[in-house]
Amino acid sequence: MLDYNSMNYIVFDLEWNQSPRGKEGENHKIPFEIIEIGAVKLDENLNKVDDFSVVIRPKIYRELHYKIQEITQVNMKELSRGRKFTDACDDFLKWCGDSFTFCTWGPLDTYELQRNMDYYHMPLPKSPVFYYDLQKIFSLIFEDGKSRRSLESAVDFLHLPIDVDFHRADDDAYYTSLIMQKMNIADIKKYYSVDYYQVPRKREDELTLQFDTYSKFVSMSFPSKGDVMDDKVVTSTVCYKCNKRIKKKIRWFSDNSRIYYCLAICPEHGFLKGKIRMKKTNDDSYFAVKTIKLTNDEGATAIKKRQLDIRKKRQDNRKSEF
Ligand SMILES: [Zn+2]
Repeated sequence: MLDYNSMNYIVFDLEWNQSPRGKEGENHKIPFEIIEIGAVKLDENLNKVDDFSVVIRPKIYRELHYKIQEITQVNMKELSRGRKFTDACDDFLKWCGDSFTFCTWGPLDTYELQRNMDYYHMPLPKSPVFYYDLQKIFSLIFEDGKSRRSLESAVDFLHLPIDVDFHRADDDAYYTSLIMQKMNIADIKKYYSVDYYQVPRKREDELTLQFDTYSKFVSMSFPSKGDVMDDKVVTSTVCYKCNKRIKKKIRWFSDNSRIYYCLAICPEHGFLKGKIRMKKTNDDSYFAVKTIKLTNDEGATAIKKRQLDIRKKRQDNRKSEF
């Protein structure tokens, strides 16, 4: 799916500012205003081809949040000499070329880039936007797959030379590209991510992604959480090994209305655990990200126990109301 011929990798990083007075002064359409884009272009063999850097003049938040100031060491004087977001972003996308995949440290940059573009009514990249989250991939390749390291500590872990500072977009993109060069391309390609800024609008656009050890389904959006969980496609369980619809042993249950679990069983492949994460779109509707993963007796017991614990907690709460 992500296998284009002569495709480049665009390793990029953004710096953004936010309301200096917190939620109160926030523009909800653009809570994070991009103030810098830095990027490194790698070819299909991960050799560096070029780099890109641009500073952007803020329009929404004219004062720097103290944390951003502290971390990036950037100041308003420098930013005021920057370029308009739309011009800078146009240049960046032109520089990216026709055939590329975004690579970032963490899951936020592709989302914020699109949210800023949307604010200025720029045409968004064609959906779905796939990217490589190198922070997650770092963990999957070098560590337990769950932990997440800061860029600095990943550079440290790999004993990479530290020749520039951290926390400016161009420097962070540079370090991220060095880390990527230490990875095996085949490994990277196994773990692509999909950005959730543009959520499928209709049934035909829903996504089912197949990975080595699990499948992931991204639903279209619905007006409410209830509508999501009433939907037969969202709640269906399919074994990702044989593609057969399988029976649930434990129906979907939840402890906090954001995450749901279930247990299903495939006659051929055994227990599979399902997880639905409820997510909100940028226009306040809801969609589901469902993963189905093979598990064993132990995993099945753990789900059963979780369900019982939640039931018990609910009963205890009800008793204490009297
Ligand atoms: Zn099966």
